Amino acid sequence: MAIDGRRARLRLRRHSIHVTSSGCPSTQMAPLQTLLNASAALHHHLCPKQVLGVRMGMLAGELLCLDLPQTDKRLLAIVETDGCAADGISVATGCWVGRRTLRVEDYGKVAATFVDTQTGQAVRLVPCLEARRLARDHAPEAQSDWEAMLLGYQRMPASTLLSAQWVSLGTPAAALMSIADHKVICEACGEEVINEREVLRQGRTLCRPCAGTPYYAVTHSSRPCDLGPVPAERGEAKSPASTDKAAFNRELGYLLKHSNI
Ligand SMILES: [Zn+2]
Ligand SMILES: [Zn+2]
Repeated sequence: MAIDGRRARLRLRRHSIHVTSSGCPSTQMAPLQTLLNASAALHHHLCPKQVLGVRMGMLAGELLCLDLPQTDKRLLAIVETDGCAADGISVATGCWVGRRTLRVEDYGKVAATFVDTQTGQAVRLVPCLEARRLARDHAPEAQSDWEAMLLGYQRMPASTLLSAQWVSLGTPAAALMSIADHKVICEACGEEVINEREVLRQGRTLCRPCAGTPYYAVTHSSRPCDLGPVPAERGEAKSPASTDKAAFNRELGYLLKHSNI
């Protein structure tokens, strides 16, 4: 992994003083307050981690010379925790799970890597450990540590708040983004796998759970999906599917009753 922390820090320092002298003077960024308002509306409150997420997204735009939030899919964000910071990152960058431009690698870290999928440049941003303590210096009126972080993180220079590393990805961005409409059927469970997430094991095409360790274990299962009545012209007196329908519905009722849905 190519990490040039010194170069990143130098760029950060330069950005904190002369953002427009960074080599990408045309970069358009939505104002911090506008992004925080949007994040708070989505989240139903504003908290320090959302501020961190928004600041990370804004800095990524500056370092990668991209206009954010994006309306296309050029930027890919890989966030290292779920929760509040991820929402801030989404709002600032325009990267969303639903648009396949945001992925969660849950390391339990408020950190994220931002990948320009056109140039291959990738920058990983992490809040400085000292930022929590230094926040109070930037928000002397704060009534609590929480409020000091909420306000201080908005006011601190990026070079005090965040550290950056230029990184290369273990899996190329193109493979992470994959072909969205690619579909196969798992040879073990019969379920459909999209987005090239299947794996090959000893010549068999499998979904990841069937090929490895799934995050779930099946405890109850409904009968196979109801395929509807068999057409009368096939000459069958009674459709097995319709015969089983009442039992299927009873079983499904049991499953739903005993689930947390
Ligand atoms: Zn929150
Ligand atoms: Zn499977």
